[in-house]
Amino acid sequence: THSAVEAQYILAIDQGTTSSRAIIFDKAGSVISVGQLEHKQIFPQAGWVEHNPTEIWNNVREAIGQALSKANLTRHDIASVGITNQRETAVVWNKKTGEPVYNAIVWQDTRTQPIVDRLAAEGGVDRFKKQVGLPLATYFSGTKIVWILENVTGVREAADAGDLYFGTTDSWVLWNLTGGVDGGVHATDVTNASRTLFMDLTTLQWDDEILAAFDVPRSMLPEIRSSSEVYGTVGEHSLLREVPVAGILGDQQAATFGQAAFDQGEAKNTYGTGNFLIFNTGEDIVHSSNGLLTTVGYKLGDAPVHYALEGSIAVTGSLIQWLRDNLGMIESANEIEALAASVDDNGGAYFVPAFSGLFAPYWRADARGALVGVTRFVNKAHIARAALESIAFQTREVLDAVNADAGVPLTELKVDGGATANNLLLQFQADILDVPVVRPVVAETTALGAAYAAGLAVGFWNGLDELRANWQEDARWEPNMQADERDRLLRSWKKAVTKSMDWVD
Ligand code: ADP
Repeated sequence: THSAVEAQYILAIDQGTTSSRAIIFDKAGSVISVGQLEHKQIFPQAGWVEHNPTEIWNNVREAIGQALSKANLTRHDIASVGITNQRETAVVWNKKTGEPVYNAIVWQDTRTQPIVDRLAAEGGVDRFKKQVGLPLATYFSGTKIVWILENVTGVREAADAGDLYFGTTDSWVLWNLTGGVDGGVHATDVTNASRTLFMDLTTLQWDDEILAAFDVPRSMLPEIRSSSEVYGTVGEHSLLREVPVAGILGDQQAATFGQAAFDQGEAKNTYGTGNFLIFNTGEDIVHSSNGLLTTVGYKLGDAPVHYALEGSIAVTGSLIQWLRDNLGMIESANEIEALAASVDDNGGAYFVPAFSGLFAPYWRADARGALVGVTRFVNKAHIARAALESIAFQTREVLDAVNADAGVPLTELKVDGGATANNLLLQFQADILDVPVVRPVVAETTALGAAYAAGLAVGFWNGLDELRANWQEDARWEPNMQADERDRLLRSWKKAVTKSMDWVD
């Protein structure tokens, strides 16, 4: 049997949008080893984005193997496993065969707009906002379940017969990891559940009235558990067999936890495929008047839940991928910095990357990408610069919303994620925000947060103070731009945003 007494490490599974990783951490929160595999991005039509759930699960297993073998460790060294995940991506599978009935529909996918419009016909997009903290939007997993129920042959019947499970990728990984068809645990945590459109923020349970409005059978849904408790143990056929799975947090909440932003008033901003700013509101449910989402921050076992405000931006790092893959402007994402640095400014060009409409603070499904202010003078370096600046401008608009809702402005911004490797971006970010930007030593805050949740549940760490002590500053960017220059750039940006709107009828 598995004994956690001697185990000196935690393994976190980070099932992200572009890849799945397994990361082993020690007690200081330092990375010991990483296993990582990318999965295919499937674009069947404009606006559709899918992943293959079976590929994802195989990658998770292989990533676990890589991480263990690189560190020369076995399951006996691992005290517990944590899971963090791309949040709103929906998987529906047959609980008897373990087979997905359709590809995972990814959070960026906009195919469910007609379903959103239909549901919003009565009561508008804020119809369920009071209960769930979210507007009706294609982003959230609930609309994606409806699409699968209505469009995949045989699925409605199988769901009504009680043969199907729904889950975001945390549930999919948990169920498979804990045995799949041989007794897998079908559960999710409060943070992932808070992104479905189905969970009541006060009771932390599925809301039957909302389920009825969506016509989704409750039998498909996972049990909602806290973010830090033992959900089950790893099944027979895994390298990690008998290790407890003890933490689940959606990726953005995990990054917040990994940044040790445990208390009311603390915040972080993650620069990945998209950008996500999360502001901890403690035990208060705060409804935004400025286009932010109300969501769950974390819940540790039986302790009170922490809520948060969130500013989600759909396209930031993925704009850099688009310049790489669709335009061939660069060969790898990190080349964007040198290209952008080869010119002094944006040359008058502004790039609003509204590829999936605009998320916070606008929530405009009718917006599409706009590159404006272009003259004969503008070259690809200016466009590279405009792309990086768009990440910072969008973040500024989200931070303005957070400050307005909170009443007290943030005095610095903790950052993490793949694109925070970019110095030019973070200097421009500090300049445009007019507050310092700070990055911690452990950049893998998402996986770290899941590891923290899993470690707390089994007594590997003794409490939040121990975790706070692990946080260390790596780098800091101070604002260095004249106010009139900042104002001029922001005015032009806001004008550019108006040009992206009203595009889709
Ligand atoms: P996710 O967890 O969403 O998959 P990551 O945190 O791994 O994302 O970050 C990957 C994203 O960061 C990609 O979209 C990539 O284009 C972007 N990125 C990586 N390096 C840079 C860089 N030097 N400058 C700007 N963007 C970058």
